[in-house]
Amino acid sequence: MANETDTLIIGSGLSGLTTAHFLRKFQPDALITILEKSSLPGGAIRSFHQDGYLAEWGAHGFLDNVEASRELLADTGLDNEAQKAPLGKFVRYICLDGKLRLIPQNPKKIIRSNLVSLPAKLRVLADLWKTPRSEEQTVAQWAEYRFGSRLLPFVDAVLTGTYAGDLHRLSIDAVFPGIRNLELENGSVIKGLLKKKKKAKEKKQEASGIRLPAMVSFPQGMGRLPEALAVDKNIEFSAEVTGIIKKEGNWEIRTSEKTFQAKTLVLAVSVNQALKLLKTSEGLAGEASPVPAIPEAKLVTVALGFSGSADIPFGFGYLAPEQEKRFAMGALFSTHMFPGRAPEGHSLLEALVGGRRHPERLELADDVLIRETYNDLKQLIHLPDPPVFSKVLRTAHGIPQLEIGYPKLLAWRNSLVDNNPGLYVCGFGWDGIGINDMTKSARQVAAAVAAGIAAKGETEVKGIYF
Ligand SMILES: Cc1cc2nc3c(=O)[nH]c(=O)nc-3n(C[C@H](O)[C@H](O)[C@H](O)COP(=O)(O)OP(=O)(O)OC[C@H]3O[C@@H](n4cnc5c(N)ncnc54)[C@H](O)[C@@H]3O)c2cc1C
Repeated sequence: MANETDTLIIGSGLSGLTTAHFLRKFQPDALITILEKSSLPGGAIRSFHQDGYLAEWGAHGFLDNVEASRELLADTGLDNEAQKAPLGKFVRYICLDGKLRLIPQNPKKIIRSNLVSLPAKLRVLADLWKTPRSEEQTVAQWAEYRFGSRLLPFVDAVLTGTYAGDLHRLSIDAVFPGIRNLELENGSVIKGLLKKKKKAKEKKQEASGIRLPAMVSFPQGMGRLPEALAVDKNIEFSAEVTGIIKKEGNWEIRTSEKTFQAKTLVLAVSVNQALKLLKTSEGLAGEASPVPAIPEAKLVTVALGFSGSADIPFGFGYLAPEQEKRFAMGALFSTHMFPGRAPEGHSLLEALVGGRRHPERLELADDVLIRETYNDLKQLIHLPDPPVFSKVLRTAHGIPQLEIGYPKLLAWRNSLVDNNPGLYVCGFGWDGIGINDMTKSARQVAAAVAAGIAAKGETEVKGIYF
């Protein structure tokens, strides 16, 4: 006998759990079943606790500037638990010429700062008359054409901090679709931003100027988010979906032990996991995927605890563009942002190593990673004594890389869901890679399921990108 349900969600990562949360809100009587191949909810989000230290295998936090995430926190009561690090206070640094340089927190101060030369600043204005190129470009090609090559290290830092990616491979259309639309519609990014600001002023949306958001986590770490969302959900763990069959408008979903029937099917897994499942599915209308898989960037977190002799500059952390040729891509000053993540009198740094450009570093033994990371960080930060605590966290989850060719894959996903009513596809990499991207698209999917229509993603210009 098949197990019957109204909506079956594959994956209990943030996307699956958020879809289930909102679907229950919009359709309280619907039967919702989640199938999860591992024994835990949360997917890429998982916190690590040892000897009074708290570090993260994956996400360290998210900005509180997206409505779907705020709604999720309010609905679950998690907003009462949230720990917030306002960006106005927690400055960020970029490593340039072997030194940490503070990145000013507002555009006027950035223009006045000496981070780039006057000619480089003037070159940015060429954006006002550069005719937009219609073809797909890498982020590096696009940024260099519009703003000049001197800005590339800053763009590199943003993409290192978000995608652990390579700006010479990532696609501008896939990574910053909102900004690209602004460019194409207005002939210039600057003109587009000014127009947008004027419109917002007219609507009185920016009466008090730009408010910098805060980074959000929880006293128990980011793992608290999926833990809270998983409560009261109908999740079958250790249930890997191995087969999907579309039958007379319904869905048959198979694990090694059970078969489920559902009216609606939501794939809430990463791009590559979804492509693997869709490749072997039966009865789907439409063409096969244009690519079998996309690249992923894997990284390790090297968590280092220091005694009181460490003097870590106050702030959020730093990022190092590739031209600096450093071992770590950057590090988070975890105990500044979220106090309580190290024993009294100690501090915690979480360095990120590997990424799209240095997968070979993931092969290094733990003691080598710890030694190389400490050697790297102590050239930038006053760390006279070796770490008193160290742990290498190796996550199995890679960050999907939205590189050249990705827009074609996204267009294919959109036509697939249009051609197969009752099928919804969201998750890591489809409509962005960050937590806020996941909550937003999962909420859209839940609303579309409740309304019985296809989910439509939307592009936007974000205020802050990392
Ligand atoms: C190292 C790292 C650092 C990150 N840092 C940040 C950060 O600081 N801020 C931020 O906003 N975002 C960050 N992210 C991104 C963020 O973690 C993701 O956006 C989010 O966790 C993706 O959630 P998801 O549910 O879409 O996918 P996943 O987390 O991948 O969840 C998918 C789930 O589906 C399950 N599954 C897969 N296939 C099957 C199957 N066939 N059958 C059953 N179950 C299946 C998996 O086991 C998994 O539990 C980071 C990601 C990584 C990897």
